[in-house]
Amino acid sequence: MEFQPKASHFINGEYVEDTSGKPIDVVYPATGEVIARLHSATPAIVNQALNAAKTAQSAWAALSGTERGRILRRAADIMRERNRELSIIETYDTGKPLQETLVADATSGADALEYFGGLAASLTGEHIPLGGGDFVYTVREALGVCVGIGAWNYPTQIACWKGAPALACGNTMVFKPSETTPLSALQVAEILVEAGAPKGVYNVVQGYGDVGASLVTDPRVAKVSLTGSVPTGRKVYAAAADGMKHVTMELGGKSPMIVFDDADIENAVSGAILGNFYSSGQVCSNGTRVFVQKGIKEAFLNRLSERLATAKIGDPLDEDTNFGPMVSENQMNIVLRYIENGKEEGARLIHGGERIDGDGFYLQPTVFADVTDGMTIAREEIFGPVMSVLDFDTEDEVMARANDTEFGLAAGVFTNDLTRAHRIVAGFEAGTCYINSYNLAPVEAPFGGSKMSGVGRENSKLAINHFSEMKTVYVSMNDVEAPF
Ligand code: NAD
Repeated sequence: MEFQPKASHFINGEYVEDTSGKPIDVVYPATGEVIARLHSATPAIVNQALNAAKTAQSAWAALSGTERGRILRRAADIMRERNRELSIIETYDTGKPLQETLVADATSGADALEYFGGLAASLTGEHIPLGGGDFVYTVREALGVCVGIGAWNYPTQIACWKGAPALACGNTMVFKPSETTPLSALQVAEILVEAGAPKGVYNVVQGYGDVGASLVTDPRVAKVSLTGSVPTGRKVYAAAADGMKHVTMELGGKSPMIVFDDADIENAVSGAILGNFYSSGQVCSNGTRVFVQKGIKEAFLNRLSERLATAKIGDPLDEDTNFGPMVSENQMNIVLRYIENGKEEGARLIHGGERIDGDGFYLQPTVFADVTDGMTIAREEIFGPVMSVLDFDTEDEVMARANDTEFGLAAGVFTNDLTRAHRIVAGFEAGTCYINSYNLAPVEAPFGGSKMSGVGRENSKLAINHFSEMKTVYVSMNDVEAPF
């Protein structure tokens, strides 16, 4: 099996290689095979990409919003036409089952391109009348060159969620995918050019953290949007602060999902499955602390076990498979250590808990019950298929415990009591909340975290504010009054 892109980087409208960069082996997680070899960007490649983005920016911003939007919407159409091909590449990159990638990756990337393409023509300032005939008008301007840095769990989606609003506003982008999943963003860059994006508007450079760090500190860069872990976010935010750059930080979580005893159990179990095992649990907003009210605890656990027994674990390219491998051997070993922590700290293992034999990086979907708030598995982000089920008695108690975390990415509640649902959501310290559902992230809705989980929002009209700034123009219709 092989999937070798034409070259490692995509700069100024074409593929570019520099084999003196550190090698990046692309490993197919289902088999452990190396399917492609790329190279990390050298300083010369980083420089070339930033120059291309800088050079292209003013002409791109000078197009009308309608023209920019048309290109983005054309790119969305191409992505949808090629959904299957792109989904297979996403599966090669991540190991996620094709059953998922066919509906969640290129399609959500296309949604972002279409949505922000549609907004591009209506990005305006405002007119502010003042006394005596004076007025102010504001002009929404692009920031300049934006850097996007991606995590490995949604490589196509992240490349588009950052690229689409950036380009809609008239910025150009240099995107660095995760070194674990370098393939998909190259496809996005190719498609944008095919759709008519001028050279240099969207560039991709590969690399490890050092390449990301060199992009963040470069004076040509006006904005950095990172999707990654909290420790990386801290470093990138600090480095960006030195140059007073704009930032968006989409970081990790340890989100609560609360199930009250009046909830529809089947829906709550579905929410817990989606919020813990989709993408083999490698989703930032997962509801990994599932608080279940004592009255339905046994019924919930029994139904969960029955449903988990029907998971189809196997070859991600088989469309019947609905649970695939971990993205890498490293991530699998991190998660295995957490599973050991859970066992050692006295949580009750009720499902899974082991690696699945073979060359691929497969873990069993794992559920611990009787988890208590202080356990490592209840406090730290695991980023794998490990659900912790915790018991609770009262609403006040569970509210306090749900919020007792440094993270604040997402939170969900399952209940049929309407007022309680809204009361709980009002109390959640989290950026993205769900009532009787979990983990849906339509492009129309803001997505992002509070507390240590992030700064800024992706998607929706709000993303425009994070990729543009307002210029204020005061217009005087009167003589200038000076004190002397
Ligand atoms: P990571 O933090 O290890 O890496 C993220 C990216 O940052 C990679 O491209 C990496 O090369 C780069 N990087 C590393 N050090 C850097 C530095 N010093 N300067 C600049 N760039 C640097 O994260 P990961 O393991 O790839 O992804 C998993 C994490 O991402 C989890 O914590 C998960 O919750 C988070 N995540 C968040 C969201 C969200 O939208 N909030 C979405 C997906 C993943």
